[in-house]
Amino acid sequence: MLKMENIDGFLREMERYAREHEVPILTEAARPVFSQTVRRTAPLRILELGTAIGYSALLALRESPGASLVTIERDAALAETAKAFLQRAGENYAARVTLLVGEAENLLPTLSGEFDFVFIDAAKSRYPDFWLGVQSLLAPRAVVVADNVLFRGLVEGEGSEAWPKHSYRTMVLRLREYLRIVRTAPGFRTEVFPEGDGMAVSWRDE
Ligand code: SAH
Ligand code: MG
Repeated sequence: MLKMENIDGFLREMERYAREHEVPILTEAARPVFSQTVRRTAPLRILELGTAIGYSALLALRESPGASLVTIERDAALAETAKAFLQRAGENYAARVTLLVGEAENLLPTLSGEFDFVFIDAAKSRYPDFWLGVQSLLAPRAVVVADNVLFRGLVEGEGSEAWPKHSYRTMVLRLREYLRIVRTAPGFRTEVFPEGDGMAVSWRDE
């Protein structure tokens, strides 16, 4: 069981694991944006789409001591790895996590209650569907954070003028659609942070 002060060292170990196994966890540049957004929101119920090894889940829980977190992962092997990491992080973390294994789009309709922080970080080509899928689960005051929205600079801004190459096309077009949706969604205010692979933060304040 890890003591609170050892969680940072544990996160370093997870970062190493992710590097060695090429698991696309939050990039170093994006981590402070993510952590600060969690801290500012002080959420009680967090929903995450795309657990991978549980790195961002642990980071979110470190920044919000009172919160519980539901996270969804479709890859069973990754989910097992995440479970093992979370167990090793200790009861203070493991007991606050519900890890669901399956496709986010199938599991979202089975969830109930209100979440005040949602982190979208699963299949990039499904972000518009995920946005729709989480709407009925949002607390009146909630924040929806989406990672990788600028995908290697191909989504918007300088360098994104060329028609994206075939293997990325659907993803890039859907990410553009996601940004259009969140920027025009009534009741939301969205900011896109360029750090890392781009992170869209949409605050709902009704
Ligand atoms: N949030 C993690 C990284 C997630 S990587 C972190 O920053 O630490 C994206 C993960 O989403 C992968 O593990 C992938 O298996 C999972 N995924 C992709 N599509 C999904 C879907 N439709 N439903 C659930 N999980 C999905
Ligand atoms: Mg990501």
